Amino acid sequence: MMEKINLVLLGPPGAGKGTQAEILRERLSLEHLSTGDILRAEMKKGSELGQKAKEFVESGQLVPDEIIIGMIRERLKAIPDEKKGFLLDGFPRTVAQAQALDDLLQELGQKLTAVIYLKVSWEVVKMRLTGRLICRSCGAIYHKINKPPKEDMRCDLCGGDLYQREDDKEEVIKKRFDVYTQQTAPLIEFYREKGILYEVNSETSPEDTYHQISEILSQ
Ligand code: AMP
Repeated sequence: MMEKINLVLLGPPGAGKGTQAEILRERLSLEHLSTGDILRAEMKKGSELGQKAKEFVESGQLVPDEIIIGMIRERLKAIPDEKKGFLLDGFPRTVAQAQALDDLLQELGQKLTAVIYLKVSWEVVKMRLTGRLICRSCGAIYHKINKPPKEDMRCDLCGGDLYQREDDKEEVIKKRFDVYTQQTAPLIEFYREKGILYEVNSETSPEDTYHQISEILSQ
């Protein structure tokens, strides 16, 4: 059996995890799991999980570990065999989640290939998130200044409506960055100690960041 490529994308909100995940998913045929996307879809449906998550997500806090771990467990187990591996975007976000992931992977007889740490400063995060626009239909990501859609508030790809995420409003962004610094940044050391952490500069263009990641993967 060919060794799978199992990746974690780590970094603050606005580091480009979603953008890189989209590129990697397409080019490497990996299963992309974004806990943020899953939660937003559940919130839109108004499911029980969505209702539980809403207040945390909209105020920029983390959804409790047990909810997130249960959610990811189901989805990791359901990845079709033909996928070359998986790509976790926005998970793990706490040390407890990282430990749960270790246990779950052991159970599944798999391991992480690499944790890619997308490094960006607070100034870049703020600029990216306050301008970020998302397509309601296909999830494509735009930016008011850096990547404006051709037609105002319409997706170039599918024609869907663009919107600003509730938690990308300026007052919530700082809270999310602080939560990242306190609860998620410790994972950098956690994975460095395991010898699987790779750092990339994510303040440049998406193509350049992707180039750095592919160099790491070809080692
Ligand atoms: P994201 O799309 O990754 O920025 O996630 C948006 C929001 O969803 C976060 O601010 C959290 O409220 C929640 N969330 C996403 N992933 C996780 C996670 N792994 N643990 C806890 N909360 C999460």
